[in-house]
Amino acid sequence: MGKINDIFASAVFNDECMKKTLPEATYLALKKTIQDGKSLDISVANEVANAMKNWAIQKGATHFTHWFQPMTGVTAEKHDSFISTSKDGKIIMEFSGKELIKGEPDASSFPSGGLRATFEARGYTAWDPTSYAFIKDGTLCVPCVFCSYGGEALDKKTPLLRSVEVISEQALRVLRLFGENDVKRVVTTVGPEQEYFLIDKDLYDRRKDLVFCGRTLFGAPPPKGQELDDHYYGSIKPRVSAYMKELDEELWKLGILAKTEHNEVAPAQHELAPIFSLTNTATDHNQLTMEIMKKVAIKHNLVCLLHEKPFSRVNGSGKHNNWSLSTDTGKNLLEPGDSPHDNAQFLVFLCAVIKAVDEYQDLIRISAASAGNDHRLGGDEAPPAIISMFLGDELTEILHSIEKEKNYSNVDKTEMEIGVHVLPHFPKDTTDRNRTSPFAFTGNKFEFRMIGSSFSISGPNIVINTIVAEELKQFADYLETADNFKTAINTLIKKTIKEHKRIIFNGNNYSKEWENEAKNRGLLNLTDTVEALPYFISEKSINLFTSHKIYTEAEMRSRYEILLENYCKVINIEALTLVEMVKKDIIPAVSAFNKHLSETIIAKRTVSDKIDVSVEETLLVRLSELNAKAFDKVIALEKAANGVMDFKNITEASKYFRDIILQGMTELRNFIDEMEANTDSKFWPYPTYTELLFNI
Ligand code: ADP
Ligand code: MG
Repeated sequence: MGKINDIFASAVFNDECMKKTLPEATYLALKKTIQDGKSLDISVANEVANAMKNWAIQKGATHFTHWFQPMTGVTAEKHDSFISTSKDGKIIMEFSGKELIKGEPDASSFPSGGLRATFEARGYTAWDPTSYAFIKDGTLCVPCVFCSYGGEALDKKTPLLRSVEVISEQALRVLRLFGENDVKRVVTTVGPEQEYFLIDKDLYDRRKDLVFCGRTLFGAPPPKGQELDDHYYGSIKPRVSAYMKELDEELWKLGILAKTEHNEVAPAQHELAPIFSLTNTATDHNQLTMEIMKKVAIKHNLVCLLHEKPFSRVNGSGKHNNWSLSTDTGKNLLEPGDSPHDNAQFLVFLCAVIKAVDEYQDLIRISAASAGNDHRLGGDEAPPAIISMFLGDELTEILHSIEKEKNYSNVDKTEMEIGVHVLPHFPKDTTDRNRTSPFAFTGNKFEFRMIGSSFSISGPNIVINTIVAEELKQFADYLETADNFKTAINTLIKKTIKEHKRIIFNGNNYSKEWENEAKNRGLLNLTDTVEALPYFISEKSINLFTSHKIYTEAEMRSRYEILLENYCKVINIEALTLVEMVKKDIIPAVSAFNKHLSETIIAKRTVSDKIDVSVEETLLVRLSELNAKAFDKVIALEKAANGVMDFKNITEASKYFRDIILQGMTELRNFIDEMEANTDSKFWPYPTYTELLFNI
């Protein structure tokens, strides 16, 4: 344990470091800036920069970078060394307040969705002092936001920080009505559970689809999949265990609270869960976690796959976004309390979430939409594309009894203050049973389970924070003007349950019946990214985000373009990769095997025409047929993927990629998988699913 204490956050310039290295006045000025969200005074910045530099150099760092989160979904950095020359020509190590606060990376190659014409290529990065600087690979990383010359957000961080402010503001209004006057801020907390696959690097290097696309584009099913459930929580193999150990240590150095590591359902699949933290930190940390996972894997000659569906027919990988609201005084607002008063407050916040999820199903769905995640959602392993909420039987019954003004059976009738009963606590094990629900209440938090494993959690949390803020705003508007607070609370809760209970579903979300039932309830079923994304620029969505100043309309339209463009590009790369693999390797390999079969038949016949050649003949006929079909398909796919794409707009283009290109890939894949299953493994040019999944 001593060791963990020594390394934990050793690479982070955190509050403790600041306190130790900064003059007291500077430290206090910085803290105040962070708390008030004001911009930093240059003299303070100079002192902080200097302290940071000295700390970093003493830890062996030579460079610094503004570390930010552009719309690529991964983090970006541009390294500068601390080196500078002094007047007498000597080398000195410098890092000024100006360099700390603001950077101007040449940003022309980051996606901006038309927000920044290339001639005005400058983007600005600005230090976000609410996230601590840290050292990674000998470089001092300064967490930053990233915006255009005109001030529009070009990153995933800026709107997230805005949403955190907005929900705090609205939640505070509600808390004031409940007399919670000592609360100064409401924060959102997030604990993202991260799934991933580990495969052998030598095998990975031999599959162009994994290298270029992060997923296999074909592969015959292995004889054994996950049907025995023997991998889930199974004992961890030494090579994986060594990886997890090193990963934990690297994450701890960065102050990341890596807590649980276990095997997941699919073979070669694992999960890492951190202890939850503030949304901003959790988002930075999850980005870092994904990066470090990949880096550490290479050291063990492994590759960490973060794609949502690296292999067909085995589970894909997701990310569970555990989300809650709490006060700066440490009270979790989604935790039922001990008194009727506390429970009334709990129910108001719960109702805000219920109403938010029902009214903005589309935005929640969009926050988990991508080309990769389309392969996963609804696949009997992940929530379906339909948004619903799990509350558990107990809480659902309580809501039902409030709506119908009946007494909840387990509760003493006398406890009726503010129209709300004393609620029982909901221990995790009674509420966390339903793993099929996209949005599950788990005792004191919600678990959003649709997000893809490679996603930044920023997008989903921007949506959750904003939609809940909007409902809290509506509630506060109503309650602030009510004559009788208790009656108003009662009316509000009842009305919300009545109008939005359709979103609550405690049953099996994977079942066909639910699909029908959801349709009857009028819930949205946006099956894929192409269906879902246009809702992002609906009038309703634009009103929501612009009224809370999370995005401007221009920012939203640009993000829409970026997301759909990304969808098209991903599929295009996949198609071109598949074409190359099939034309250059698979068709020739099957031809070679066919030649071998023909030669065998001829050789046998030369000896005697009484020798049975039926096996070779059957295989030769079928494989020749498949090879011919595959060839036709691959030529058509190549043409489609390289075709002149003269679309009116990106929405039209995305339909083409889904309906023509992706569909063509699926059809081609079916032939390939059958060819693989029938070809001598000595001839097959690629590592198979069996090798990839069961080799570690
Ligand atoms: P599971 O059954 O889903 O594995 P856990 O109890 O392990 O449940 O919790 C999963 C995640 O939820 C962890 O990352 C944990 O830190 C996080 N979590 C717990 N409480 C909160 C909270 N109040 N807000 C946000 N995340 C939380
Ligand atoms: Mg979970």
